[in-house]
Amino acid sequence: MKKLFIIANWKSNKTLDEAKDWLNKFSDHLKSESIDLSNKEIIICPSFTLLGFLSDLNRSLNLPIKLGAQDISPFDQGAYTGEIYGGQIKELADYAIIGHSERRQNFNESDETIFKKADQARKFAVIPVFCIQNENTTIPENISVIAYEPPSAIGTGHPDTPENADKIAEMVKSKYNTQFVLYGGSVKSENVKSFSDMPNIDGFLVGGASLNPSDFFQIVKNA
Ligand code: PEP
Repeated sequence: MKKLFIIANWKSNKTLDEAKDWLNKFSDHLKSESIDLSNKEIIICPSFTLLGFLSDLNRSLNLPIKLGAQDISPFDQGAYTGEIYGGQIKELADYAIIGHSERRQNFNESDETIFKKADQARKFAVIPVFCIQNENTTIPENISVIAYEPPSAIGTGHPDTPENADKIAEMVKSKYNTQFVLYGGSVKSENVKSFSDMPNIDGFLVGGASLNPSDFFQIVKNA
């Protein structure tokens, strides 16, 4: 059975109380419905403000969940006001999303900046989840987890077809020697299986449907 990464990208959502409520409800689902998680890596990517709190809560609830950041500084530690550098992330999380199209669009992130972020992640042993928008997005060397996310599918309710996503994943794997390619864009519990059935798709980056713990649990269950 192939390994599946199922990543929740909460974006700029949730207060401390809301995050606590989410994790408790998700934990209740995990305890009451036993599902096979042996091949599934569940990763929650909350805002930076929630990482410390969720890391403590996750440990005390002893959940099979890893944490990720939604971004990472392109610089090492130092005089970079407002940035969170890789060493700080590594204390709390194992993964970092890099190059999401919302950051490219709203914060004018260039390939150069994104490549620096990937370098910083690797320097501190944070695994980059490197987002690409199509098969022509430039990808640094030695990236093991790529998320293919066509912007037309993000938050629109119009996912790519599983066949096309699989074709892109196959191309990326052969060109960049990447181990895992995830799909992101309007993934829901109803369509997740049609993507995970594809031979080259190794998991999901889930935005909107990850905000509700029951919806996200159904995605994990159905994947
Ligand atoms: C995303 O933002 O990474 C994403 C896939 O969003 P959504 O699931 O809402 O389309």
